[in-house]
Amino acid sequence: MRHEIAPRSGAGFELREGQTLTVYDPRGEQVADLLAYAKADLREVISSGRTLDYASRLFLTTGDPLYSNRSNVMLEIVEDTVGRHDFLLTPCSKDTFRIIYGDTDPHRGCFGNLAAALEPWGIAADSIPTAFNCFMNVGVDGETGAITVDPPKSRAGDRIAFVARMDLIIGLTACSALQSNNGSFKPIEYEVTD
Ligand SMILES: [Zn+2]
Repeated sequence: MRHEIAPRSGAGFELREGQTLTVYDPRGEQVADLLAYAKADLREVISSGRTLDYASRLFLTTGDPLYSNRSNVMLEIVEDTVGRHDFLLTPCSKDTFRIIYGDTDPHRGCFGNLAAALEPWGIAADSIPTAFNCFMNVGVDGETGAITVDPPKSRAGDRIAFVARMDLIIGLTACSALQSNNGSFKPIEYEVTD
């Protein structure tokens, strides 16, 4: 069964070892931030630093594992129809919108949506790390390291699928930042299969 995450919102759910999580971009050009925590010990959490270090690459796709802060594989990408995602930038937040966009009454962003979605498991906002940003297109200048947030390459119906390598608590959003989503907020869909 496919679940919809409404624009600028988030969801939390459990994913058992061996299950597949497929994240769909139903309309195209919409980012989804993904977090994972080990169900057995919520201090074990998805790690951008370890994953990128071990991959020796910034852009991950089919076959790449996503590691925890304890260097265990949490998820593995098993299907990817887009080939461009981001694992560098933190979830957009009230402060993102205040600092980068100059909003005076900022939206809580993916960060606030993730904190709310994960609260039932007792996961605190301070335990939210850099998310794996499905469909987010961040350009990197190889010389200067300058980064740009570009329109996602995803088109309507594109997807990325992950197999869980341990029992997990997942946080997932339909991203709330204008720049990341080429100027409009759209829903995200996901499906969990055995
Ligand atoms: Zn976001």
